[in-house]
Amino acid sequence: ESQTANWNFDTSYLNLPEIFYTPVAPTPVALPQLVVFNRELALELGLNAELLGQAESALVFGGNVLPEGATPIAQAYAGHQFGHFTMLGDGRAILLGEHVVKGERLPPASGAPDTSLRWARRWDIQLKGPGKTPYSRRGDGRAALGPMLREYIMSEAMFALGIPTTRSLAVVVTGEPVYRENVLPGAVLTRVAASHIRVGTFEFAAAQGWAGAGARTDALGAPAAAIASQEGKPEILQALADYTIARHYPEIGPREDRYVAFFDAVAERQAQLIARWQCAGFIHGVMNTDNMALSGETIDYGPCAFMDAFDPATVFSSIDQHGRYAFGNQPRIAAWNLARFAETLLSLFADDEQQAIAIGQQALARFNERFNHHYSHGMQAKLGLVNHEEADVGLVTDLLTLMQQHTADYTNTFRRLSGRAAVSAENHGTEANTLPGTEALFAAAEFTAWAGRWWARVKRQSISPAEALTNMRAVNPAVIPRNHKVEEALAAAVSAGDLSVMESLLEALKNPFVETEANLAYRSPAPPAAEPYRTFC
Ligand code: AMP
Ligand code: MG
Ligand code: MG
Repeated sequence: ESQTANWNFDTSYLNLPEIFYTPVAPTPVALPQLVVFNRELALELGLNAELLGQAESALVFGGNVLPEGATPIAQAYAGHQFGHFTMLGDGRAILLGEHVVKGERLPPASGAPDTSLRWARRWDIQLKGPGKTPYSRRGDGRAALGPMLREYIMSEAMFALGIPTTRSLAVVVTGEPVYRENVLPGAVLTRVAASHIRVGTFEFAAAQGWAGAGARTDALGAPAAAIASQEGKPEILQALADYTIARHYPEIGPREDRYVAFFDAVAERQAQLIARWQCAGFIHGVMNTDNMALSGETIDYGPCAFMDAFDPATVFSSIDQHGRYAFGNQPRIAAWNLARFAETLLSLFADDEQQAIAIGQQALARFNERFNHHYSHGMQAKLGLVNHEEADVGLVTDLLTLMQQHTADYTNTFRRLSGRAAVSAENHGTEANTLPGTEALFAAAEFTAWAGRWWARVKRQSISPAEALTNMRAVNPAVIPRNHKVEEALAAAVSAGDLSVMESLLEALKNPFVETEANLAYRSPAPPAAEPYRTFC
C-alpha cells in the first residue's frame, strides 16, 4: 500500500547483554525540515520513497515521530582516541532499529559499484544529532548542518566510487541553533550502516573486567592501562563476538579456531578497505578505534577529505596536529587499531596467555600481508596492469615519488594516464589530454622516462594497450569530492539556503568514472590558497 513507509524493523542488538546499550528516545526538535533525501537509497532499502520524500517525513528524520516498529537505543562503546583509551558510546546518535529488506535479494545492477556489503539484508537506521543520551558526557547530543551535509556528500561519493561505506538517507534541519565556536543551524542525519559495531565496542566489552582484574600490562603493544582484561567477563565478550560473527561473518560457523578466523575475516575486510582508501587518495582524518567498523565499511565522516597533490604527509584535520592520521600513516594505524582489537580477543584465542599472544601476533602479521596484497593489486589496476611482475612495485613508487616532486594532482595524474591520447599517439600520455594539476609532472624529463617504462610494461601483457586504458578508466575516477567544491556547496546550503550547488555536486559525484561536459567543472584542484585547507569535526 502507498500509505506506509515500508519500514521493517527488527532489533537483534537487544539480544546482547544489556550493558551494550541503553533505551533512549530522540529529543523532539522545534521545526524539522527536510534538506536532502536519498531517493535511490530508499528504493534500494525497499522503502516507500514517494512517501518518505515528502515534507512530513521530516518529523521522522528529525526524531519527533518514531517510525513504526522502531526501538530506539544508544549503543555503548569505548575507544582509543589519538592513542588514548576512553569510555564512549552514542553521545549524539540513536539507533532506531535494524531495517530488514524484504523480498528477493537483488543482484547488483550492471555497472553498479562492486560493494558486496550493499546486498546485506539488515541495515542499522541511525539518527545522528538526535539529542542527549546517557553517553553524551558534556556534549549536547546535537549536530550542525554543515558537517551533516558534508557526511552526506562524502559518504555518497565513496559509495559511487565503489568503496564500502555507511550511507546517508536524509538530512533535516531542526529549526534549533547549536552552539559551537559560532551559532550554527542544527541538523539530524539519518545514517544507514551494515552495523555500528566498532573495534571500540569490543574494547568496551573487554574493559568490563578491569575492575576485578586490574590493568594488564602491554600485550600487543598498547599503551599501558588501556588493556583489556582476559579474566574479566568473557561471557560478555563472547556474546558480542558471536553476535558479530552471525551478523557479518556467518560463513565462519562453528570451528575450533572460530575467533582467530573472525579476527582474520575482520582484518581481511579492513585490508581491502584501507587499500581502497589509499588507491583513491582518501584521508579519513580520525581513525580512532571507535571509528573502525567491524563490517568493513568506512564510518564516521568527520574531518575526512581527498588528497589533491600527492604527499603521504597530507593532513587536513584541524585536530590532528601531529599527523597521526596523515594519508601515508593510514595502513599503519589500521594495523595499530587491529592490534587493539586482537587484544580484546586474547581470551578467546587460547586459554594460555602466552599462546594467545603468539596467535595475536601472527594474525597481525597476516593483516600486513593482506594489506600489501590488496594495495599492490589496486595500484597495478590503476596503471592498467593485469598480471604481476617483480618490477611493478618500483614502477608505482617511482611514479609516486615523481608526483610528489612535481606536486602533481593524484586523481588527475592517473586519469590523464588513462586517456586515449596515450594509445593513439603512442606518446606515453605526455601530450594532449591535459588535466589541471598534471602539467609540471608531464613536462618533466624524468616523467617521460618513467612513462616509457610504464608503456613498455603495459604492452607486455595478455590484453591490448587499448583494453588496459579502458580498464584504467574504470578504476581511476575523473570526479572526486574536491575540497573546494564541497566547501562551495556547504557554504551555499548553510549560509544562503541555496541547495542547488550541493545538488549539482551530488549529481556529478554519482558517475565518477565518466567525463562529461557537466562534470568538467569538478575536475580541477583548488586554486592556490593563502592558507592550507583545514577540516573540522
Ligand atoms: P566522533 O569524534 O564523532 O567519533 O565522536 C567521538 C565521541 O564523542 C562519540 O562518543 C560521540 O558520540 C561523542 N560526541 C561527539 N559530539 C558530541 C555531541 N555534540 N554531544 C554528545 N556527544 C558527542
Ligand atoms: Mg543497557
Ligand atoms: Mg565516532
